Amino acid sequence: MSEETVSKNFIELEIDNDLSEGVYTYVCTRFPPEPNGYLHIGHAKSILLNYGLSVKYNGEFHLRFDDTNPTKEDMEFVESIKADVLWLGVNWKEHLYFASDYFDDMYNCAIKLIKKGKAYVCDLSADEIRQYRGTLKEPGKDSPYRNRSIEENLKLFEDMKNGIYADGEKVLRAKIDMASPNINMRDPVIYRVAHASHHNTGDEWCIYPMYDFAHPIEDAVEKITHSICTLEFEDHRPLYDWVVRECEFDPAPRQIEFAKLFLTNVVTGKRYIKKLVQDKIVDAWDDPRLVSIAALKRRGFTPESIRNFVELCGVSKSQSSVNYAMLEYCIRDDLKLKKNRMMAVLDPIKLIIDNYPEGQIEELIVPNNLENPELGERLVKFSRELYIEREDFMAEPVKKYFRLFVGNEVRLMHAYFVTCTGYESDSNGNVTVVHAEYDPQTKGGNCETRKVKGTIHWVDAKSAIKAEVRLYENLIVEEKGVFNPADGSLNLNPNSLTVKKNCVLEDNFKDSNALDSFQFVRNGYYCIDSRDSKPEALVFNRIVSLKSSFKL
Ligand code: ATP
Ligand code: MG
Repeated sequence: MSEETVSKNFIELEIDNDLSEGVYTYVCTRFPPEPNGYLHIGHAKSILLNYGLSVKYNGEFHLRFDDTNPTKEDMEFVESIKADVLWLGVNWKEHLYFASDYFDDMYNCAIKLIKKGKAYVCDLSADEIRQYRGTLKEPGKDSPYRNRSIEENLKLFEDMKNGIYADGEKVLRAKIDMASPNINMRDPVIYRVAHASHHNTGDEWCIYPMYDFAHPIEDAVEKITHSICTLEFEDHRPLYDWVVRECEFDPAPRQIEFAKLFLTNVVTGKRYIKKLVQDKIVDAWDDPRLVSIAALKRRGFTPESIRNFVELCGVSKSQSSVNYAMLEYCIRDDLKLKKNRMMAVLDPIKLIIDNYPEGQIEELIVPNNLENPELGERLVKFSRELYIEREDFMAEPVKKYFRLFVGNEVRLMHAYFVTCTGYESDSNGNVTVVHAEYDPQTKGGNCETRKVKGTIHWVDAKSAIKAEVRLYENLIVEEKGVFNPADGSLNLNPNSLTVKKNCVLEDNFKDSNALDSFQFVRNGYYCIDSRDSKPEALVFNRIVSLKSSFKL
């Protein structure tokens, strides 16, 4: 087998086969979101998969809003979905469609089915339809209305369309097989009466098609070749094929299913995300702890990192959850060489260098990214009073602690060697100030004659910028399972958000803009919050910490 064949996923193999057998002469895929919520990481997988196939096969990609349900959908979501798809780097060009634009086609297909004796108007109530449907073990029973004449069906369906009937009074059903082992084939409802205004078609219609009928027609009208969806539709495929065949579409689109993407430690699924927002467990659809695309963007994830992640996940037929750490790996990997490594102290205490001249300020030359010289250098202010992390000093050092304690020498990153000479504490025993002396011969943090084991970062006190930093942990404690078996509630992590209000940053952060991201040295990657940050009061989101247990 050639290398190319080995690396192809099962969908690509199917497409290759279809092309070589002449089933299709081109490839056209689509992403069909229902505009009833924001997109999430699972949708990103579907978008990138479908778009990627259109690119690989030099075909077309359509973005189609599946807006056939008048009551649940909203234009607000249409705009957010478009923005999210574009952000992922996917361009539908002129191929933006709305399923509601095909209501006429769907209506005509219904008429065609009635004329072929393949659909009938049924007066059973929703409950009765359910009772007649049978079970997995027992066949269903024919509706008493199943054998209405074609003329009567045409007349009744027209009356349904003309608003003669109330919601639920009559439905149109496909006439397939009430004894089919596949329940989806037991005369499914294909049109229902709903006196509801639609965001696109207004009050033009009071009958609306059901998903299983509408979807294949949408695909067929757009001449989609491969209609790629998730596994829960596998049992619906015979119905999909039936609709396409009986409505006599050529070329007939073909449905292929793959496994949904699930991630550990977070909540995927529109329904659950919506509930978290409604229950005020998170503050909005773009709360950085969520994995909606809007949230990932606000948190500081990049389109490249998401694309890479989706690629690594692969495409499969078996359901599984991907470790959240893999997503973190992808964003770290993307930012590593692209972002400046800056100094920020999240839990500050003062460090006073007693032998450093009072009033003197030096501007030290600091590389922006030691691993990528192309990012250049910057000047960082240094003077007698600095801030360091509280955890970088210990009054009583534990074993193997190489940072500051009385008598120990450390490197202040990019600056000087300093030796700790003492400290002050308040009446509660909390350390308030650490004292040290510096060695002027070690400028730049270099020394020929001696080595130190610890290097700590710092921020010049006088020029420091204050900031709020939001630390995130996973929303779900996965070890306990996503859901609590007792009551179905989510196992939420009570520490998913920690707000640090007194952080200090080097003054080079002063011109940063919303969504700019940086490495805070020795700590992690951070991004300026696009909602709450102001130039005079910066707010940062932790994208990901530097440490990882995940290895590729
Ligand atoms: P949810 O399960 O979050 O409610 P949905 O499937 O109802 O999502 P739609 O707008 O109907 O959302 O889906 C648009 C497309 O995205 C569908 O083709 C669907 O199969 C796909 N999709 C949804 N969730 C995932 C997922 N977790 N992984 C991969 N594809 C997904
Ligand atoms: Mg859906």
